Amino acid sequence: MDEEKVEEAPVDIEEQTKVEIKTDIDRWMPKTALGQKVKNKEITSYDEILSQGKRPLETEIVDALIPEIETELLMIGQSKGKFGGGARRIFKQTQKKTPEGNKPSFSCYVIVGNRKGYIGGAMGKSKDTVPAREKALRKAKLNIFKIKRGCGSWVCGCKEPHSIPFKVEGKCGSVKIILLPAPKGKGLIIEKECQKLLKLAGVKDIWSQTFGQTRQKQNLIYAIITALKKLRETKIKEQETNALGAEQ
Ligand SMILES: [Zn+2]
Repeated sequence: MDEEKVEEAPVDIEEQTKVEIKTDIDRWMPKTALGQKVKNKEITSYDEILSQGKRPLETEIVDALIPEIETELLMIGQSKGKFGGGARRIFKQTQKKTPEGNKPSFSCYVIVGNRKGYIGGAMGKSKDTVPAREKALRKAKLNIFKIKRGCGSWVCGCKEPHSIPFKVEGKCGSVKIILLPAPKGKGLIIEKECQKLLKLAGVKDIWSQTFGQTRQKQNLIYAIITALKKLRETKIKEQETNALGAEQ
């Protein structure tokens, strides 16, 4: 049978939410043309790569061009508990039933960001926790994208990039999330894992509304990522850009 079910994670799993994995750029031997250009300093900013519509295949490109990048693990797992749930966990453990017996696997979600508009996130899955985390981190770096921050709050109107310039929404499965600009000092009025993501993206104030089954964190995270991508995908006029303090 191919059925997967969520199982309680063992208690001794490392529950460290901060990950520090630094790459040695000096010893890096690029494998792609894009990587070579970064190493030779022909390309000196990640914006250049994004504006050319390119996607890096080497994480060192991200490390070299966005050195202040920080990483964090989101709590997507949950231990078994009475009345619908125990403590939140980093690793989600699933069991696959095979003819040889139950095969456990672990998945986790890593986010990366520079607190100045860059954010990326990805899921990693493996039969062990450490490779799952490494896989997720690698994919998160390669998934990095730039949001557009600003101040779209009518109450505030400071034109600084502490919030978002306009309302955006994202959906995943049954979950829908709406992000709205908030005035300075309001904080992040949103679910906890979404707060971590917005902090790493460099957004300090936000209002939000969520609909659907938000206890399943994965769908919620995919929904907010979709919403955040719309900040740059949505075209706004130059005069609006200035009025909303939107980043270029
Ligand atoms: Zn403001």
